[in-house]
Amino acid sequence: MNDCLFCKIINGDIPSTKVYEDEHVYAFMDIMPLTKGHTLLIPKKHCKDLFEMSEDVASNLYRAAPKVANAIKAAFEPVGLNTVNNNGAAAGQTVFHYHLHLIPRYDETDGLKVGWETKNFEMSELAETAEQIKANL
Ligand code: AMP
Ligand code: ZN
Repeated sequence: MNDCLFCKIINGDIPSTKVYEDEHVYAFMDIMPLTKGHTLLIPKKHCKDLFEMSEDVASNLYRAAPKVANAIKAAFEPVGLNTVNNNGAAAGQTVFHYHLHLIPRYDETDGLKVGWETKNFEMSELAETAEQIKANL
């Protein structure tokens, strides 16, 4: 896509710090990392978000995820790693070319606050919710 920042990065029109590349995916350092090693993994085929992604693109992307995650693990020995993917501005997406954040974690004060307020649902409500999703698969 012409005016897409990450397509420009893939094409080499905008510089990036490449970590990994194959026929289908490109991985590079996030320019504003949350932690040391924060990497973005993106499909070469432009799609805006998870909703637009084909199964082929998804499988090619996730095939590369363990390889890159394990390289980050071997390089920096983090105690954990979060994969984060924001879809839609309301969910925090700021670049509208799908990207999977790989964020190595070092301790609880490393800058990434994870933890959300869970709600209690009755099993019957969960079952009804599941039915609504299933009806749309
Ligand atoms: P999100 O908020 O999930 O859409 O994440 C977008 C991410 O892209 C942010 O973490 C930015 O720091 C990162 N980012 C934006 N521009 C660049 C760039 N030119 N090179 C590398 N990372 C970028
Ligand atoms: Zn793009």
